Amino acid sequence: MAKVFCIANQKGGVGKTTTTVNLAAGLAKVGQRVLMIDLDPQGNATMGSGVDKRTLKLTVYDVLLEAATIAEARVSADKCGYDVLGSSRELTGAEVELVAVERRETRLKQAIAAVSQEYDFVLIDCPPSLSMLTLNGLCAANGVVVPMQCEYFALEGLTDLVNTIKQVHANLNRDLQIIGLLRVMFDPRITLQQQVSEQLKNHFADKVFNTVIPRNVRLAEAPSYGLPGVVFDASARGSVAYVAFAEEMVQRITSM
Ligand code: ADP
Ligand code: MG
Repeated sequence: MAKVFCIANQKGGVGKTTTTVNLAAGLAKVGQRVLMIDLDPQGNATMGSGVDKRTLKLTVYDVLLEAATIAEARVSADKCGYDVLGSSRELTGAEVELVAVERRETRLKQAIAAVSQEYDFVLIDCPPSLSMLTLNGLCAANGVVVPMQCEYFALEGLTDLVNTIKQVHANLNRDLQIIGLLRVMFDPRITLQQQVSEQLKNHFADKVFNTVIPRNVRLAEAPSYGLPGVVFDASARGSVAYVAFAEEMVQRITSM
């Protein structure tokens, strides 16, 4: 049975998609079977895995509306070593279309159950909101990985996410827990970042991953080649860090 993780943070531009595709590629590199689900209508994780969202016949939208199964809608990201359940613009409409249907928040969970045996990890790239889409992700997940930049307002933004996770845990998914906070785009030369990093460790203790992802331009360049950094330039510092993070995740799930 696969372990299912949401990569979530309601802020945009904090490194969710970069973390999702690079963790997926890193896990594949260390021999794990991975399905990456793109729950963001922007489709960046889809494109960033080399899958053209404009040519996809079926996406996570069809799966949420139960018009297709994951087995039918997934594609293989050949160069990256994992499978992709892609997203496209029409996913924006799913938000409204799901309002009136039954079991609306557990649609993704049901769909994943049918392919769970085929994977070790299912990673879900969430949109920058606490919407019905993110709720589907959280209901399907065993845990949440929260990428964050060590900036002044980072902790403040975390409160809303932590409260949402608590509510989902209490009402919809007893499995759900925060697996960890991942420090991303880290620049050790900036004193404030070091300070916030220390605060995080004091406050959240072992919920902060040991691995730190540095700010690294190769990670930012990779999506324009339709590749995760880990595949685009394996020797870049950011790529090496994401593979180390994949190994840390493998260790964490053996103790879950
Ligand atoms: P989100 O999915 O949370 O909106 P992204 O993963 O798209 O965030 O990242 C936002 C921007 O920051 C993108 O342009 C991405 O390439 C860049 N980025 C992410 N992580 C890093 C990093 N470690 N170093 C440099 N740039 C990064
Ligand atoms: Mg994103």
